[in-house]
Amino acid sequence: MRDPAPRRVVVENAHIVPVKGEEIPSGHLVIEGDRIAAIGPGPAPYVPGEAERIDGSGCLATPGLVNTHHHLYQWAAQGVTPDGTLFEWLVASYRLWARMDAEVVSGAATAGLAWLALSGCTTSSDHHYIFPKGRGDLFEAEIEAARAVGLRFHPCRGSMDRGASRGGLPPDEVVEDIDEILGATEEAVRKYHDPSFGSMLRVAVAPCSPFSVSGELMIRSAELARSLGVRLHTHGAETADEDEHCVEQFGVLPVDYLDRLGWLGPDVWLAHCVHLTDKDVRRFAETGTGVAHCPSSNGRLGAGIARISDLLAAGAPVGLGVDGAASSEMTPLAGEIRMAMLMQRARYGPRALTARQALETATLGGARCLGREAEIGSLEPGKLADVALWRLGGFHAAIDDPVVAFAYGATPPLARLLVGGRTVVDNGELRTVPGEAAARAGADAHRRLRTGDHV
Ligand SMILES: [Zn+2]
Repeated sequence: MRDPAPRRVVVENAHIVPVKGEEIPSGHLVIEGDRIAAIGPGPAPYVPGEAERIDGSGCLATPGLVNTHHHLYQWAAQGVTPDGTLFEWLVASYRLWARMDAEVVSGAATAGLAWLALSGCTTSSDHHYIFPKGRGDLFEAEIEAARAVGLRFHPCRGSMDRGASRGGLPPDEVVEDIDEILGATEEAVRKYHDPSFGSMLRVAVAPCSPFSVSGELMIRSAELARSLGVRLHTHGAETADEDEHCVEQFGVLPVDYLDRLGWLGPDVWLAHCVHLTDKDVRRFAETGTGVAHCPSSNGRLGAGIARISDLLAAGAPVGLGVDGAASSEMTPLAGEIRMAMLMQRARYGPRALTARQALETATLGGARCLGREAEIGSLEPGKLADVALWRLGGFHAAIDDPVVAFAYGATPPLARLLVGGRTVVDNGELRTVPGEAAARAGADAHRRLRTGDHV
């Protein structure tokens, strides 16, 4: 079903927000192969040979959105403990998650990634940290789903080794042995990680959280990632309960604990970081540690509101993430731009996060978290042609400023989504996998996990 990348694509008459550089009220983009060849005001210069021409009249062109935190398997486990705290929700969810197999992951990831594409996402990470024995290759299943949907993918090989018998939160049946984890993680990096410019797939190393992982696994994971030249990801400082757990078990707050284990640095990005001290904010900026801000999930679990405005003012990399669908049901990535903006303002006042700053976190900020700011996150010649073209006619036409219409209003329909110059969404419809089939795969995965017939 997938069409080959045309050699050239020309977009004209669009309001272009390159994120880096000046906005262009009516301009053009020329795409050659998987790269942006030219960007500028007015019509495109003469392009020799065949080219697909897209009339962007009434459209806003932005960089494709970057999702910095997710658990795709959770598409199959939505709606559980709708009113619980993080710890209550986790304890209720672990045994359900323990039933997953490669088929569940494949269906859930297909639906989750299709949903992301339909909300303007061109690059997504995923954090997968439960690997029940004898249930097939779960990591490969999500990689195959990303290939089919056509998104740039950063799967993080997650892990848990501290079950309840060792003071952790998860039951022992869902954790793995530390040597098995490190062996499987190294194998995943060697098999799938592609460090080249324009890569469609990069693997990161990602123990799950301070309350499900031993200090030894954190230290050895960081050593492994740094020896292999890949990035590090985990959860951190998500809730007040986590603060309490860390003080009780390790004698310090979560960020001090992560610092002690070698987990702050330019090759690390952390999900949530809701509960930060002033010193923590400064350390994130000084060390270049990235934050994946997931406002809907933080709202759903009542975790609090992260200090994104302070982190941005200090110069720390901040991206947006939808988080797993079990704690943030069906969250569209573009909608997180609005959610991030509104939550910052509700807490810190109307100038806390502008529409353009929020768009930047969803694009270039996310690219910084994933270590890809030289390739994606802004529209510039030489960068990859990951572009979202949003249709601002219809109901949005009553707002003059296109970025305000996009960020303050409901998410507008996608006229086109290009990943490396290839069409993934056209006129609101997926072109790579049929949308209906992706939705069905997600529903089937949910049924399979719920009934547990395969276990
Ligand atoms: Zn998460």
